[in-house]
Amino acid sequence: NRKPIVGFVTEVGGRTSHTSIIAKSLFMPAVIGVPRLTKIVGSDELVIVDGYEGTVVVNPTPAMVQEYLSRVSRHEEAEHKLLENRNLPATTKDNHRISLQAYIELVGELDDAAQFGAEGIGLYRSEFLYIATSPDLPTEEEHFNIYRKLAEATAPNWCIIRTFDLGGKKLARQIMGSKEDNPVLGLRALRLCMQHRDMFKTQLRALLRASAHGKIKIMFPLVSGVQELRQVKTLVREIRMELDAENIPYNRELQIGIMIEVPSAAVIADLLATEADFFAIGTNDLIQYSLAIDRSNEKVSYLYEPLHPAILRLVKGVIDAGKRAGIPVEMCGEMAADPIYAIVLLGLGLEIFSMNPSSIPVIKNVIRSVRYKDCRRIAELALNKKTAQEIEEFVIESVAMRFPEGLVSQNV
Ligand code: PEP
Ligand code: MG
Repeated sequence: NRKPIVGFVTEVGGRTSHTSIIAKSLFMPAVIGVPRLTKIVGSDELVIVDGYEGTVVVNPTPAMVQEYLSRVSRHEEAEHKLLENRNLPATTKDNHRISLQAYIELVGELDDAAQFGAEGIGLYRSEFLYIATSPDLPTEEEHFNIYRKLAEATAPNWCIIRTFDLGGKKLARQIMGSKEDNPVLGLRALRLCMQHRDMFKTQLRALLRASAHGKIKIMFPLVSGVQELRQVKTLVREIRMELDAENIPYNRELQIGIMIEVPSAAVIADLLATEADFFAIGTNDLIQYSLAIDRSNEKVSYLYEPLHPAILRLVKGVIDAGKRAGIPVEMCGEMAADPIYAIVLLGLGLEIFSMNPSSIPVIKNVIRSVRYKDCRRIAELALNKKTAQEIEEFVIESVAMRFPEGLVSQNV
């Protein structure tokens, strides 16, 4: 029930924890990972939650309250202004066309996606369907009705539905049975689904059936190698045969893509590209697994660096492999929604960005303000730097130099 909640602060978590992602989806101000918070703030105390700065003000003075109220209205005005670009294409000044899509967790967010000008759904996190019906699993009809609705509402654009990414940090106690010592490296996502075939087949059957009603693509999370992809594609073929036998229609050209979010998958993207129809780079996990930092552990969040040279090299390798194989590559991690990172990603050749709906106007504004040619050069030079800090400083300086009119940021 989101009605009585206007914002929240947590002691634990990181920027790409699902708590933070959901907060963004619900337009809810949130500050994550404030140590000892509950020792400092008492019941009934007035608190300002500044999600942009990542600060919490306890017992503010009346002057501060006034200042924040006026910041809220300035922010609303800026957001309103950005929405003017809603129907304009995401095209750079030198005419390079980018597609901006939305990721969503709840069907209710379809309206937000449309309102902010998304060109389709780049990621529907289907596991939230289970979280809503838990402890029961959704039935085939429940899956089917949701997927059909998604497909119909997104038409004529595509809707990419990701199969359950349960396990890890996402609640799946009833399915998992026992607690794992190291859940993020354990039975999560595709691995969990392949071991719980009945549950998985229910979802896949519904997805295939819904594919007859709109432009659905399916995507598998946490693929680590070619063998895993082949196994799940065999399962899809078996389900197709069952549907054929029952005379149930489905899209025979249904495209099957994979998330690239495990370092091994990024390294062998060229091999995976010969067997997948598209890639979606999941930087939230790719960064977590490449840099060996738990994405929801505030103690190591200072090491969570999207511009780490290792990440840029991996991302570049995936984009290049996709291009060589002629398959689309999108990014649906939080990295794609940051104006500075977006410039680098654009320069690395990324052409499909998926993000929280409310970030679309901001990133569209960035794209419409820059030249692709300059972003290519910025990315090329950034790849020669040795640390995330050096890269970030270099990108910020280059942006200020090349685009002096400035890029509108989400902060006001
Ligand atoms: C990712 O890992 O970047 C991603 C988009 O998936 P999730 O955040 O749901 O793990
Ligand atoms: Mg992920």
